[in-house]
Amino acid sequence: MSGCADSMLFTPEYPDIKRKNSLTFSSPSFIIDCPFYENAIEARDRIQCQEYDLLLPGPCNLHCKYCFSEWGKEPQNSPCPKKSFDDITDIIRQNISAGLRKVRIKSNGEPTLYPRFWDLIDFINLHGGQTEVYTNSFNNTAELSRMFAAKNVNIVTKLDALTPEINDYLTGVTGSFTIQYKAVFNFIEAGYTMDGPKLGLHAIICKQNYGQLPRFWRFCRDLDIIPYFQIPAPPPNRNNPYFRELCVDRVAIHKLFEQILRIDKEEYGNSC
Ligand code: SF4
Repeated sequence: MSGCADSMLFTPEYPDIKRKNSLTFSSPSFIIDCPFYENAIEARDRIQCQEYDLLLPGPCNLHCKYCFSEWGKEPQNSPCPKKSFDDITDIIRQNISAGLRKVRIKSNGEPTLYPRFWDLIDFINLHGGQTEVYTNSFNNTAELSRMFAAKNVNIVTKLDALTPEINDYLTGVTGSFTIQYKAVFNFIEAGYTMDGPKLGLHAIICKQNYGQLPRFWRFCRDLDIIPYFQIPAPPPNRNNPYFRELCVDRVAIHKLFEQILRIDKEEYGNSC
């Protein structure tokens, strides 16, 4: 598959939502994996950490070409070996008492497939934490989006392209575009706006979607979604046949970021 011409772009028919032009990236924070109390205290005091990642064990329902964890496999030398539900809640409790209230829930696979996922969200809410979940939304429904909103969970959902062919190619699952694209609007209809819980949209930067990314950026800004474009990390399996095929060189990445910076300034009045 090669890069995408603009004429191939899917034309989204999304609701006319009043744009507030107020989006900025959240301030950078330090990331620590599953810190225990002493580490949390140190992180809070010495490096002013405000939030942390919780990496849940579990499978995935997609087969992305660039997957870092090879579709949910436990990475070798994982900093966060498999833990029981009680271990995980204990870590969260310790971190909250150390002042780390915000937890980003991620997974080696898809976090919502974790068997006690909703118990975990309720536990964090009960203890005064704030949750952000990174989901591929391949199992999203309108009802699920409303549950997330009701529990005040910030979401980073995933969509790798604005065209079904490219998105489905990258996720390795036919039909994923339809579900993931619909999920964006399920979240918005459930109350994800700048005034409600926050919605981010994650896409990797690769040769296949490169030509669409400026438009993708506008798509996010128009809908008050926080865009989150990421350069894919090298997969642990260096023999992954797709990685070389996906990679965009540094010059092209630099050019893209200059372009989206211009879009933000000139079209949306955002400045860094
Ligand atoms: S959604 Fe994430 S974990 Fe799942 S296959 Fe894609 S990159 Fe891997």
